[in-house]
Amino acid sequence: MKTKSKTTEGYAVEALVSGVVQGVGFRPFIYRLAYEFGYKGWVQNTGVGVKIHLETENEADFKDFFAALKKDKPPLALIEDISFKQAQFKSFKKFTIKKSIKGESFVFISPDISICENCHREMMNPSDRRFRYPFINCTDCGPRYTIVKALPYDRNQTTMKDFIMCEECAQEYTDPLDRRYHAQPVACPFCGPQVELKEAKTGKKIEGEIEKASSLIKQGYILAVKGLGGFHLVCDALNPESVVQLREIKRRHRKPLALMARDLSLVEQYVNLSTTERQYLISARRPIVLLHKKREIQEIAPHLDELGIMLPYTPLHYLLLMEVGLIVATSSNKKDAPIMKDEAEGITSLCDYILTHDRPIYMRSDDSVMKIVDGKPLFLRRARGYVPYPQKVHEELKGPKHILALGGELKDTISVYKDGYVITSQFLGDLDEYQNYIYFEETLKHLCNLFAIQPEIVVTDLHPDFHTTRYAQKLGIPHLKVQHHFAHTLAPLLEHNIPPGKKVLGVAWDGFGYGSDGTAWGGEFLITDYSSFQRLAHFQNISLPGGDLAAKQPWRMAVAYLLTTYGKDFPRISALKDIQASSIKGIVEMIKNKLNSPLSSSCGRLFDAVSFLLGLSPKIIEFEAEAAMRLESAASEGVSESYPFYLWTHLNPWQISFTPMFDSLLKDLSDNLSPADISSKFHNTLAQVINIVAGKAREKHGLDTVALSGGVFLNKLLLKKTMELLKRNGFKVIRPLNYSPNDESLSLGQIAYALNWIKNNKEKG
Ligand code: ZN
Ligand code: ZN
Ligand code: FE
Repeated sequence: MKTKSKTTEGYAVEALVSGVVQGVGFRPFIYRLAYEFGYKGWVQNTGVGVKIHLETENEADFKDFFAALKKDKPPLALIEDISFKQAQFKSFKKFTIKKSIKGESFVFISPDISICENCHREMMNPSDRRFRYPFINCTDCGPRYTIVKALPYDRNQTTMKDFIMCEECAQEYTDPLDRRYHAQPVACPFCGPQVELKEAKTGKKIEGEIEKASSLIKQGYILAVKGLGGFHLVCDALNPESVVQLREIKRRHRKPLALMARDLSLVEQYVNLSTTERQYLISARRPIVLLHKKREIQEIAPHLDELGIMLPYTPLHYLLLMEVGLIVATSSNKKDAPIMKDEAEGITSLCDYILTHDRPIYMRSDDSVMKIVDGKPLFLRRARGYVPYPQKVHEELKGPKHILALGGELKDTISVYKDGYVITSQFLGDLDEYQNYIYFEETLKHLCNLFAIQPEIVVTDLHPDFHTTRYAQKLGIPHLKVQHHFAHTLAPLLEHNIPPGKKVLGVAWDGFGYGSDGTAWGGEFLITDYSSFQRLAHFQNISLPGGDLAAKQPWRMAVAYLLTTYGKDFPRISALKDIQASSIKGIVEMIKNKLNSPLSSSCGRLFDAVSFLLGLSPKIIEFEAEAAMRLESAASEGVSESYPFYLWTHLNPWQISFTPMFDSLLKDLSDNLSPADISSKFHNTLAQVINIVAGKAREKHGLDTVALSGGVFLNKLLLKKTMELLKRNGFKVIRPLNYSPNDESLSLGQIAYALNWIKNNKEKG
């Protein structure tokens, strides 16, 4: 690393740091570090990362400097690589921050980050000029992705553009030794955004702002509170009447509501907390973490054993929660629409009061939601705090073309690829809803603009009727289509840096995806590499009586499975007692006559059927996976038995039939075994199915790695049991860690396929 100049006495080095190193206080950090070490030279933002020139007259190898750089880097920085080059000693008189040069390469931007400790301390200090100022921030914290309109990340390219800095703020902003040097959203009570409390119906301003807002919450009112990525609907979590009223507004009667708690001690009153869960809760990304209930809170998450809780992440939240400790904080939308970011989007019709402010939100983003499994995150939704973090692709997959992947239809995300990295958008919701589709278009435009992507190739799902597929067709660029479950398994391959050519067993289990043969797939075992897949095994097809209705009414699936297991004289078990005999007969006829009863190997529908048979599922579900979530919640611990099943390896693909399982399960029911124990046995069975198929796949095809993906693997119990068995059996197991296993990760898998496809096509010429 050291170079001794030939002409002058001294030592110099030049380093290039790549990763998320812009807009995160990296250059002032280097400036301060060079100052501490007494080095001269410069630091500069370039198109390929941050360049550093260090020099000194004293003998130095600069090792300690770069060790300190890695160790003490700003919290938002993500260093991908540091490369070194010999440099000329130039006798610089001081260390400077050179003007940025724009380049062609990827310039990243940090996600939105929770208020840091320093800012929090200042906010609570009565003699600080930002005492109780709800928009305090610095280079280590505050809004980023949601306020940026374009890159480079500069104040006039953000929604802070119209706030003219006062002298004191400007002083901090321009001083490289200050914590707020080039903190684009820097502001204070004199020059920055202001908070406002209004009556929703009349728009009348109300004095007292945040304090008054807390007292209104305590009085039972519903408030809309503007956060980082949109408005939350907020009420007192311990006031069941308010919660029910909020549920009426959202038209969500049972779907779990997220909570925001003032501090960890309050969280611990209601849930059990592991060390890792605690770490994620207090992390600067502040996700909602699903935690095991210790105590029930009425109306928050009925019939489930977990509560989704987050800690405050904006200064405004902190101030609001000082008085009221525990609030419901749920996205401000009517059923299935995107989170609202402007008052004009209809927020007044959803609440009694609005706590808003005048710093515009440019890009909306929901809160991220996760569980912790084996000390690592399992994302149910990836958005605020994590987007737009880049994902590096395998060296051998890298290519020069820009790629756009549009995902699926439900829980959609978009991914873009450029220069070795993929950026995946925040969760966009169900594109069948018109407003979500607009959100999709909005986000697509924004990502391409922000990261200077000119798509040369577009990738979608195989499904011919998805909005994303149709959108791609209109783009007039080469269009690749990737089978749904294939894309599911490719996402963890890309994430875990699996090399091209390596074959793994992809277990893709979900509710539904369009199969290569036009039928609905869902319980899939695929031999996968980046270029293609072979359907090794799948669940035996079953009729979905009523098509889409079968997914909403689990009793239909229960009937379908009973019919498959026993024929039309299946036992009329007690779970069916509330279903009219004529309705059951109707379903049986439908299936027998193949009327509107498409065949599917769905795994989600299997969960529905079992949940209903155990009396755990409602007749009609209110939200996706409700029946499956209740089944998982009900499971007891310490049960090791499982049910029998058939694995037919004489067929191609192999098939798994659950008729023996249903037969035993019904016997257990009539023997009065508890639903808790039956649920546990059911989960064990599915883990066994994977373990046994994996064993046979290893025998026959030499596969040693299993990738678990698809929405079913949001089931923590199943995931844990499966990983345990597979690991004990000597398999390497991978699963999505930074992405959700559900359809949110399809666009990432699609990128992986396209990269490999481009590479192979180039080789072929
Ligand atoms: Zn800060
Ligand atoms: Zn100011
Ligand atoms: Fe899926």
